[in-house]
Amino acid sequence: MKTNYDAIVIGAGIAGLATAFNLAKFKFGDILILEKEMFIGSGATAKCAGGIRAQFSSKVNVQISLKSIEVFEHFEEITGEPALYDQVGYMFVLTDPATVDGYMKAVELQRSLGMDVKLFGPDDVTRIAPPVRTDDIIKATFFARDGLGDPHEYLQGYFRACKRLGVDVLTETPATEIVVKNGQVTAVKTPKGEFAAPIVINAAGPYAKVVGKMAGVKVPVDPLRRQIVTSGEVDFIPPTMPMVVDVSSGLYCHKESKGLLMGWADPNVKPGFDESQDPDYNDNILMRAMNRIPKMEEAEVANSWAGLYETTPDHHAIIGFADDVKGFFIVSGFSGHGFMHAPGAGIVAAEVISGRTPSIDITRLRLNRFIAGGVEEEVNVI
Ligand SMILES: Cc1cc2nc3c(=O)[nH]c(=O)nc-3n(C[C@H](O)[C@H](O)[C@H](O)COP(=O)(O)OP(=O)(O)OC[C@H]3O[C@@H](n4cnc5c(N)ncnc54)[C@H](O)[C@@H]3O)c2cc1C
Repeated sequence: MKTNYDAIVIGAGIAGLATAFNLAKFKFGDILILEKEMFIGSGATAKCAGGIRAQFSSKVNVQISLKSIEVFEHFEEITGEPALYDQVGYMFVLTDPATVDGYMKAVELQRSLGMDVKLFGPDDVTRIAPPVRTDDIIKATFFARDGLGDPHEYLQGYFRACKRLGVDVLTETPATEIVVKNGQVTAVKTPKGEFAAPIVINAAGPYAKVVGKMAGVKVPVDPLRRQIVTSGEVDFIPPTMPMVVDVSSGLYCHKESKGLLMGWADPNVKPGFDESQDPDYNDNILMRAMNRIPKMEEAEVANSWAGLYETTPDHHAIIGFADDVKGFFIVSGFSGHGFMHAPGAGIVAAEVISGRTPSIDITRLRLNRFIAGGVEEEVNVI
C-alpha cells in the first residue's frame, strides 16, 4: 500500500472530491482521500436538497456561486462525466415590508456582478410558479441561471473523474490523528496505518472542528440539524417550477420527482451531531407549505430525513491555509451551501494549494477572519 502522498484530503463529500479533482487536474502530484464511512458522500452531501443559486447578499458568495454555476453548466466538458443541471431558477418571495430593502440591496450587488436578476410582481409569480398563493406578495426576485442538481450524480461524477486522474480513495479509513512536526503537518494516522504528506486538507464538513483539533487548529464550524420532507405525487407542480423561498416563513420548496421537496431551518436547533428526526418537524413544514401552496392540502408525505449543516458564525465558508500550522488547509463551513459552492470552492482551493493566484479573491474566507473581526454576515441563508 502506498503511504507517501503530496496531499491528503480528509472527507469524501462533495467539497473534498471537488478539491481533489481540481488538484489532480493541475497535476499537483499524488493525492489520497480518506473517508471514515463505508461509502463516499455519506455525510451532509447525502442529505442535500440539491438547490443551486447565486442570489446571495455577499460579494464573495455570489462570486463562488457564479464560478460553480459555470461548472454545473459544463460539468461533462470539464470532468467527462454527465450530470443534469435543471435550470428552473430560484424565486425568493417577499411578503414582509421589513425584508424588502435588504433583498433589493442584494439584487443591486448581484446585478453589479453581472447577474440578470428579475424583480417580479404577483402576476409574474403566478406565471412562473402557478400553485403559489400571491395575495400577500409584495415582490419576488428571480434568477434564471439558478436551479437544481442531483448531489449524488455530481458526487459520483467527481469521484469517477478523480479515479481516472489517479487519485486514491480509501473508505472506512477515518483520520484519527494529524502529525505536526515543527509547526508543519507531516502525516495522517488512521486505523489502517500512517500516510505521509506535507499538505492535509480538512474537508470533513460538519466534522471540520473535530478534524481541526487533530492538527491543533481551531476551526469554528458547528453542526446544525436540518430536516427535509417530500410529498407523494401531485398534479399541480409544473416541470418548470423554480425553487421557491418564502422569506417570511423560511419555507423553501422545489419539485422532486412528481411531488414537492420542502425544507425549513428551525431556528431553535442547537449545535450537535444528532441526526434523528424531530417528530414535530413535519407538521411545522407542512403548515408553512400549505400556507404558500394551498393545494398542498391534497398531498401526502412520502419521505423525510435529517442531516447536518456545517455552520460558521458568519455563514461563509472557510477556504485557506491555517496560519499557525503549515500545510493544513481548510475547505469547509459552507453553512448549508456546500453543494452549490463546491465546484467553485474546489477550483479556488486547488489554485491556492498549488501556489496559483486564486481566480476569486478569497481573502475574506481566511480562517483568521474570526480573530481579525470577521466578514459581513451572509443574510440570504435558508
Ligand atoms: C437537509 C439539508 C439540505 C441541504 N440542502 C442544500 C442545498 O439545497 N444546496 C446546497 O448547496 N447545500 C445544501 N445543504 C448543505 C450541503 O449538503 C453541504 O454544505 C455539503 O454537502 C457539504 O459538503 P462537504 O463535502 O463539506 O461535507 P460532507 O458531505 O459532510 O463530507 C464530509 C465527509 O468527511 C467525512 N469525515 C468526517 N470526519 C472524518 C475523519 N475524521 N476521517 C475521514 N473522513 C471524515 C464524513 O464522513 C463525510 O463524508 C443541505 C444540507 C442538509 C443537511
